[in-house]
Amino acid sequence: MSTTLSPITSVNPATEEVLARFDAFTPEEVDRALDEAQDAFIAWRERSIADRAIPMRRLATLLRERADKYGRLITIEMGKPIAEAKAELEKCAWGAEHYAEHAARYLADEVIESSAQRSIVAFEPLGIVLAVMPWNFPFWQVIRFAAPALMAGNAAVLKHASNVPQCALAIEEVIRDAGFPEGLLRTVLVAGSAVEPVIADPRVRAVTLTGSSDTGSRIAELAGRALKKSVLELGGSDPYIVLADADIDAAAKVGARARNQNNGQSCIAAKRFIAVESGARDFERRFAAEVEALRVGDPLDPKTQIGPLARADLRETLERQVSESIRMGARVLTGGERGAGKGWYYQPTVLADVTEDMPVFKEETFGPVAAVLRVRDADDAVRVANDSAYGLGASIWTRDLKLGESLARKIESGSVFVNGMVASDPRLPFGGIKRSGYGRELSSYGIKEFVNIQTIWIGAGTQKPTGPQSE
Ligand code: NAP
Repeated sequence: MSTTLSPITSVNPATEEVLARFDAFTPEEVDRALDEAQDAFIAWRERSIADRAIPMRRLATLLRERADKYGRLITIEMGKPIAEAKAELEKCAWGAEHYAEHAARYLADEVIESSAQRSIVAFEPLGIVLAVMPWNFPFWQVIRFAAPALMAGNAAVLKHASNVPQCALAIEEVIRDAGFPEGLLRTVLVAGSAVEPVIADPRVRAVTLTGSSDTGSRIAELAGRALKKSVLELGGSDPYIVLADADIDAAAKVGARARNQNNGQSCIAAKRFIAVESGARDFERRFAAEVEALRVGDPLDPKTQIGPLARADLRETLERQVSESIRMGARVLTGGERGAGKGWYYQPTVLADVTEDMPVFKEETFGPVAAVLRVRDADDAVRVANDSAYGLGASIWTRDLKLGESLARKIESGSVFVNGMVASDPRLPFGGIKRSGYGRELSSYGIKEFVNIQTIWIGAGTQKPTGPQSE
């Protein structure tokens, strides 16, 4: 640890106290990490999936055993309420167990009828996958990628966000303690600007980013230049549609959680609330009451529901988006100001009378700010929902389940939840379209992102070759 100012600094967002500063890795240290990961990969790829599942199950156990320790670390580094930090670790344990149990089935050879005596599609590992990760779910984002990637036989190098270095090191620690080979997942403490040569390095075979859309463009450009596969999980501005026949009470209650969990800093948070005119006034009133009732406070207090934003600059961006939207005619139903005193707090906020040209509608709001718009009917709601650069998740509230399903198919997003809030689940694919990225994580789709889908064609052996025409 160094005493000089470094970009890799851990600061408690609730107190603004510097917790730790780290020197960025030198290029030589990054090189050594890549060597270690490469060596680990060579042996790891030879192990059976059943064998790989042993440390993966142990990882789940350790994450549960250490939920207090790691939960506290998450909370003091990025500010989410402690109850949510512990829930994040439980989710990681679920993800690890899911892939320990299902990877063999997901990656089973497919035998295909062809002109061959036997033709197979096999799923072989690629090598080192570089993971560039965000701070908002500092454990889950990493495990969500690492559990399938490691079960498929790959190695990983993790470049975590610069404001969660202690979480980054704790993840390396727990992977090692679970019994994975030394070096199989290496954390490198570097700034975003140091990522370019790592992507270009021939030992790195693919890259995955969870982060903002601007960073996604940059990573895609670098990966494209090096001709490497990339998966991008980017920002979102999820619509939350409340139709006239919806259960307004449930929509308001769940909506308050869908917008504000993780202090409002979730890619799949509901951000644009689109209410059909006839029920809109009722929804706005009940929704604002739910939001107003949220307990803001010290994130280490188990009763707290909203803590501070993770960084000072995130609060400044949110303040600009809200004040410009108010200037353009948005009406404050609750909140609308930063919190008083120390810590990067922002009051949970609901804005009504929002229009499609306002920043809180057009841009991603990464904090506890809900934008409510009124629309004429269900068709208008779909039009407004799709009037976005993003396409990650969406919610539709209606008692007519057939209508809900048919509208879901018209929404331009990676997932649509009818009468529920958008959430990730290891059994279901997760990802976006448009400026929310490409590729999928979780489920069988996620584990197949970082494999060589290999065709193996076997002729009879004793006859004249009768192979397919070469191209
Ligand atoms: P960010 O600024 O894009 O940072 C994400 C990661 O990218 C960090 O590790 C960051 O490192 C790195 N990075 C930044 N600029 C880079 C560059 N030019 N080259 C290489 N790496 C670079 O995003 P954030 O503000 O931390 O996270 C919030 C965003 O992530 C939101 O837009 C949110 O919606 C999105 N997100 C998406 C998902 C999803 O699954 N779709 C999930 C969670 C979050 P440094 O910290 O060192 O800058």
